[in-house]
Amino acid sequence: MAQKPEDIIRDEVRALTGYHVPDSAGMVKLDAMENPYRLPQDVRGQIAALVAHAEINRYPDAAATRLKTVLRATLNIPADTTVLLGNGSDEIIQMLMLATARPGAVVLGVEPSFVMFRLVATFCGMRYVGVPLQPDFSMDADAMIAAIEEHRPALVFIAYPNNPTGNLFEAVQIDRVLQAAPGMVVVDEAYHAFAGRTYMNRFGDYPNLLVMRTLSKSGLAGLRLGLLAGHSEWLRHVDKVRLPYNVSVLTQLVAEQVLQHQVLLDDQAATIKSERTRLHKELKRTPGIMPFPSDANFILFRTAAAERIFDGLKHRGILVKNLHGAHSALAGCLRVTVGTAEENDTFLDALRASLA
Ligand SMILES: *Cc1c(COP(=O)(O)O)cnc(C)c1O
Repeated sequence: MAQKPEDIIRDEVRALTGYHVPDSAGMVKLDAMENPYRLPQDVRGQIAALVAHAEINRYPDAAATRLKTVLRATLNIPADTTVLLGNGSDEIIQMLMLATARPGAVVLGVEPSFVMFRLVATFCGMRYVGVPLQPDFSMDADAMIAAIEEHRPALVFIAYPNNPTGNLFEAVQIDRVLQAAPGMVVVDEAYHAFAGRTYMNRFGDYPNLLVMRTLSKSGLAGLRLGLLAGHSEWLRHVDKVRLPYNVSVLTQLVAEQVLQHQVLLDDQAATIKSERTRLHKELKRTPGIMPFPSDANFILFRTAAAERIFDGLKHRGILVKNLHGAHSALAGCLRVTVGTAEENDTFLDALRASLA
């Protein structure tokens, strides 16, 4: 007799709601930390020429040798580390967990943080332990160390800066985590372009350190390219669970080309940072809105009527992220991505109209 999905699909998977991506057609899209700027016409022309000649009848270079060379140079990746590429850093999170998902193995992170850490742990049958942040969203290092001692996690994830809170944790606290953790510690630097601080130069101090980056938040979200740097003693094993052609011919070609124009991406990041400062100031002087400090390209803010304001913004054509209900520490919180000056003004007007 044929079986039902409940007999076949794993309980923890049936219990999931999945990652919801809202329909954003026609909206001012300030919900997903995308860079609002396109590339200039001449660079787009270079991409068009590359794509026209791309050998898409062939599989991609499975080792992506040329792209890795360009990435090493532009991201200052130390020569004695190994680099692993993913179809976005989300796929790297999945590889790390596939490689470590022994029965009973634990993934540890702070709470609230990037939802993919918990979601992918669940996909892979791992147990996720979230250690609460302090009310001001700083790390509770003593609680982290205690949880590490208790659960002996195979993997620790620290987003630096953290999403959705936007802050950088204190380096001395992350150092304590690196010293205490028995397994790999992944410092996820998805927002590095807007923060400036990094663990990319700390591999000499910590054999269990891995640093993750993505091109998604600096203008290439549609390309899907993430990377993990670290010691080969760990990464040579993680690389075995990578599907061989995970980074497409087009992604490799386009990323190599765009990275030749790092100055352009840096300029865009600088503009986004100055808009972040302006947006934060405007939010702060808006009655009923309490913005948190940010080292990323988004701002988390608290309001007494999050649901009403989220709906009011949506009604006025603006999509932000509603985090009210996502976690007790995020009660009343919305998260807005820093857009162009014009988008930010449109958002501020709509916000004030929604508050009225
Ligand atoms: C956006 C984000 C990612 C995912 O990036 P992709 O490379 O697009 O998969 C990873 N970590 C954090 C903390 C993020 O906010």
